[in-house]
Amino acid sequence: MSKPKIGWVGLGHMGVPMLGNLVKAGYDLTVYNRSRAKAEGLGLAIAASPAQLAANVDIVITMLADDAAQEAVLFGPEGVAEGLRPGQVVINMGTISPEASRAAAERLGRHGVAVLDAPVSGSVKPATDGTLVILVGGEAATLARCQPIFDVLGKRSFHFGGPGAGALAKLAINMLLGTTLQALAETVVFADGQGLERATLLDMIAETACASPIVNLKLPALRADAYPAAFPLKHMAKDFRLALAAGATLPATQAVAATFAAAEAAGQGDNDVMAVIKALEKPL
Ligand code: NAP
Repeated sequence: MSKPKIGWVGLGHMGVPMLGNLVKAGYDLTVYNRSRAKAEGLGLAIAASPAQLAANVDIVITMLADDAAQEAVLFGPEGVAEGLRPGQVVINMGTISPEASRAAAERLGRHGVAVLDAPVSGSVKPATDGTLVILVGGEAATLARCQPIFDVLGKRSFHFGGPGAGALAKLAINMLLGTTLQALAETVVFADGQGLERATLLDMIAETACASPIVNLKLPALRADAYPAAFPLKHMAKDFRLALAAGATLPATQAVAATFAAAEAAGQGDNDVMAVIKALEKPL
């Protein structure tokens, strides 16, 4: 069977490496990005609008910042919805709210378009390596149709249920991720404050049972005290806001959400998520 034509919207930190794997796997891709400059130089067809993109492909994949971006791209002027026809599939892989995921499935479903929410766990390195973990909400039959695409982008897909279930699962895993990173940051801030040498502390952490893959991944940034973005902190702050709105009023989650909000307010939003340490080095 020939491969479906894919339209890709969103050329940020994640979108570019993810679509690169689909190109390598032989998919025909057309791209659209709000800031057109990011689309130039990829050597791919560039659509003039999300509507034009949708009109020329079989499957639309979005990898966008948040609910507002998803709303603008799907339902704004010249949005994806204007170019769709029955039988197409729209997959959202960004982290947006479960409500927006369910609403998009409902609105596009009325036009005979199948929708999956399929946010991902894993940052730029797994996106580049094609080893993301993909969290899916939507119809099983639509997932089966899209599975070959997910098999290129990720190492495993999990089907959590109907529309919005993938988005909820993503909020759940990022609660664990963000809480882990704040705990790591607090360990370093405490040790720094007590006069322990940071390099030795980080070497020690790497040898203990606390050295999970995410902790190990962030040790070099802490060693250099430099936080160029892989996963921009503003997105983690957004994910905690979404988790709280979805009912995650749990003690550690509320505390960590407040720390990430403070770090974002202090200007760390475009730095990596590990820059949360900057909000902890000063009293909140
Ligand atoms: P990013 O680098 O900030 O890119 C965001 C993308 O959204 C860009 O293409 C941007 O377009 C577009 N966008 C933002 N606002 C828009 C609007 N109002 N209208 C149209 N387009 C808009 O984000 P990312 O790191 O790739 O992450 C994308 C999503 O995946 C986020 O939901 C994030 O939480 C999630 N995620 C990220 C990671 C990670 O490690 N980075 C890991 C897992 C999940 P412009 O280029 O024009 O700004």
